[in-house]
Amino acid sequence: MAKQIQAIRGMNDCLPADTIKWQQVETTLRQLVASYGYQEIRTPIVEMLNLFTRGIGEVTDIVEKEMYCFEDRNGDMLGLRPEGTASTVRAGNEHGLLYNQEQRLWYMGPMFRHERPQKGRYRQFHQFGVEVYGLAGPDIDSEVLLMSAALWEQLGIKEHVRLELNTIGNADERALFRTALIAFLEQHLDKLDEDSKRRLHSNPLRVLDSKDAGVQALLADAPALTDYLGEESKQHFQTLCELLHAAGIEYTVNPRLVRGLDYYNRTVFEWVTDSLGAQGTVLAGGRYDSLVGQLGGKDTPAVGFAMGIERLVLLLDTMGKFDNLPRQADVYLCAMGDAAVAAGLQLAQQLRQQVPGLKVMSHCGGGNFKKQMKRADKSGAELALILGEDELQNGVITVKPLRGGEQSQQTKEQLIESLAALVQN
Ligand code: ATP
Ligand code: MG
Repeated sequence: MAKQIQAIRGMNDCLPADTIKWQQVETTLRQLVASYGYQEIRTPIVEMLNLFTRGIGEVTDIVEKEMYCFEDRNGDMLGLRPEGTASTVRAGNEHGLLYNQEQRLWYMGPMFRHERPQKGRYRQFHQFGVEVYGLAGPDIDSEVLLMSAALWEQLGIKEHVRLELNTIGNADERALFRTALIAFLEQHLDKLDEDSKRRLHSNPLRVLDSKDAGVQALLADAPALTDYLGEESKQHFQTLCELLHAAGIEYTVNPRLVRGLDYYNRTVFEWVTDSLGAQGTVLAGGRYDSLVGQLGGKDTPAVGFAMGIERLVLLLDTMGKFDNLPRQADVYLCAMGDAAVAAGLQLAQQLRQQVPGLKVMSHCGGGNFKKQMKRADKSGAELALILGEDELQNGVITVKPLRGGEQSQQTKEQLIESLAALVQN
């Protein structure tokens, strides 16, 4: 026998038992963003590699260690997208959507990062994200946070996520802070782990979110970014906090939160959960006012977030929130005998047409009554419709409830009426 070929490690199949969960989440997301007037953008999965190296930053984890890159047959260096923001900006610049305009966009799709696969961390994973362009104030920062809070509410997991918020100022403010932070860390080199030593000069802000306990203890005495913020940055953050407070959104200010991507400024945030172990960040984002310019467009303020759908589905599963999934079929149609098979296929077509939304599965492959009823039960249907010689002769259909109830015989018209009621449930 030929050897079976396996999927790539960290790249998952989504099988029917899971796709219904994903579809339910996707539907909620689409309805949510539509209710805020956001429009969908779809960009390619592959881009020129330098879009990501320039957009995300050379010394970020993603670009240093996680990118899937390859040379195509023309010798161009391409990359599988590791996130959605750089591509959205590229598309927006290319099609003139950003400068001097307001755009509220969303996207959803697969992303690729070569990380060590584990629970909640995969090599192909999916993100849902929003990106807003042309709005510089804290009001829109607040809107995207209110939108994410509304999502938790709708999904019934409000109690299981919390918001962490910070401001990282603008580039000048960060440069001042950076110098002070490097000077401080250099005095304590012996207490830094290898990663932090490596980042000390390339990306010292990332030392702030080091997972190393020794480094975290050291940071208690480190200079604070807040002390380097100018008036405007402070005001922006304060107003955002007030807007959130007014809307009843709870949050904690986490001065260590800096986010792993280079393009953020001012507002940064994460929604985290304690229910998924180490992979606790479900949704993350912030303001990125310089990226559009950095990627060749005219300066345009921007804010957005990205959410990992795998982590969200995992969280919903862990919390038992998928108890109301749609059934595969509402009715299962069994037919005994050649004439009934022909009539049954037609009847099924008519029912689908006349009762919008009704899910009808026709039994195929023959077999006796017992076998067909077994399949009917397995389909999850509420009702089995039975057509045999007798039914054909009398112009009726036998309707057998599969989850309790009395069997009856109905005309096609009666049946259509009762099925319409079934769809509404
Ligand atoms: P982490 O700290 O967990 O590595 P990140 O900072 O790299 O996350 P972002 O780049 O901000 O994450 O991506 C936003 C969200 O996408 C994350 O909060 C997470 O939910 C999800 N995500 C990121 N990387 C992965 C992955 N490899 N597998 C599954 N989900 C992921
Ligand atoms: Mg990461």
